[in-house]
Amino acid sequence: FLRHYGYSSEEVLSMHLPDLYPEREKVAIVELARNLKGHAYVGEWHHIKKDDTEITVLVTSHDLVYIGRNARIAVITDITERKKGEEELLKTNISLEKAQKMAHLGFLDWDLITNEIIPSEEIYNLYGLPKGKKYETPEFVATVTHPEDVTFVRENLDLALKNIKPYNIDHRIVRPTGEILWVNAQAELVRNSLGNPVRLQGTVMDITERKKASEEIKKLNQTLEERVAERTAQLVAINKELESFSYSISHDLRAPLRAIFGFSQILARRHRESLNEEGRQYMDYIVEASVRMEQLINDLLNYSRLGRKSINIRPVPLNDILETIHSDFKQKLDEIKAQFNIINALPVIQGDESLLRQIFTNLTENAITYRRTNEHLEINISCEQKNGAYLIKFSDNGIGIPEEYWEKIFNIFQRLHSDDQYPGTGIGLATVKKAVTMLSGSVWVTSIIGKGSTFYVNLQEPKL
Ligand code: ADP
Repeated sequence: FLRHYGYSSEEVLSMHLPDLYPEREKVAIVELARNLKGHAYVGEWHHIKKDDTEITVLVTSHDLVYIGRNARIAVITDITERKKGEEELLKTNISLEKAQKMAHLGFLDWDLITNEIIPSEEIYNLYGLPKGKKYETPEFVATVTHPEDVTFVRENLDLALKNIKPYNIDHRIVRPTGEILWVNAQAELVRNSLGNPVRLQGTVMDITERKKASEEIKKLNQTLEERVAERTAQLVAINKELESFSYSISHDLRAPLRAIFGFSQILARRHRESLNEEGRQYMDYIVEASVRMEQLINDLLNYSRLGRKSINIRPVPLNDILETIHSDFKQKLDEIKAQFNIINALPVIQGDESLLRQIFTNLTENAITYRRTNEHLEINISCEQKNGAYLIKFSDNGIGIPEEYWEKIFNIFQRLHSDDQYPGTGIGLATVKKAVTMLSGSVWVTSIIGKGSTFYVNLQEPKL
């Protein structure tokens, strides 16, 4: 006592009992001491040490006859540290409980030996059960689980107990009010020192809102998919209709055009002399215009035919395709002293031969048409393979295309020049785009004005 409290024995002998106590307890201890005689006592108090620090003590005392005198012996245990620890623990428990409450997270502890289940505060809130009521596990599962989920819960508990599958499931519970909630339940086996499972401890979390939101998203997605499918079907139908419309129009226009062309040619030939200068000029305009119109109709027919054609996918050596195109255009290319370079060996790809031929024929035609007159045309073709796709680069050193037209030129009838400058119909690149799309690929262009253009054709390996 002397060592722990710091008093000397003289000091202690001159002190009275209340001197050991803080002001707030002095009256009470005097009161207690007066009534203690004849009783054993255990109680918690505070003492002041010599250095004025306060300690919490557990006092046990009882009467004693000491050397012939009535006395009382007290055993004092300093429990300051233990008290502090308990308070800390209490605080931690309170915040843990608060956190669980805020997260709607309950904790369950199932004693596998007694079958008793010990729920945390939040479990009672979550399940709407009377606070403190004790349950055995099978009864608890049967009481709270949605009838349609009981078997599922039991099966999963069983798998967890047999250590086959960790317990982590979403299921429904029913509160006494009839309200249905979705919970996520997870649990782990706790083993004793021999390795035998003795408890199953786990958490239960209210996920009703989350579940509702994801159900909502699922529903929305489904209606969205339905709507997209509906719209796509409508678009496909409209496209088909447009295609057959333009096909029959261009087809039906051919006959009268041929008549105009034929008769105007006869007129121009046989009756040229009987016309005056102005008449001869008009006649030439008619012939020229009908040639252009025939080109337009042929291009249109070709464009709309593309959509009606069945695709025939098989291995196609790109090299052969481009070599054929090279020889098709050989005469023209030689005439203008142009180069047609296949930079690296082109691969064999899964594609449709006539679509591929169409794509590169049109690109070659354009490179020839839109070349610079003061420069020999040079066409370079190369290919790289990237992530299972082929990127074919088709570049020329022609007049170039202003950036604001890089996308537009792939639209039908979109032209940047008048017919006098460069003859054309504005259908060539639309046809390229259509053919590439039919091969599930993509096409785009980059260009520098006065330097040249590069057309990129990206072809995915079609899934067969
Ligand atoms: P067309 O050549 O019959 O006019 P296209 O659809 O083939 O129709 O091309 C659309 C427009 O894109 C052309 O009018 C031209 O202005 C531009 N263009 C196409 N290819 C090239 C090219 N290689 N270099 C420069 N401009 C081009």
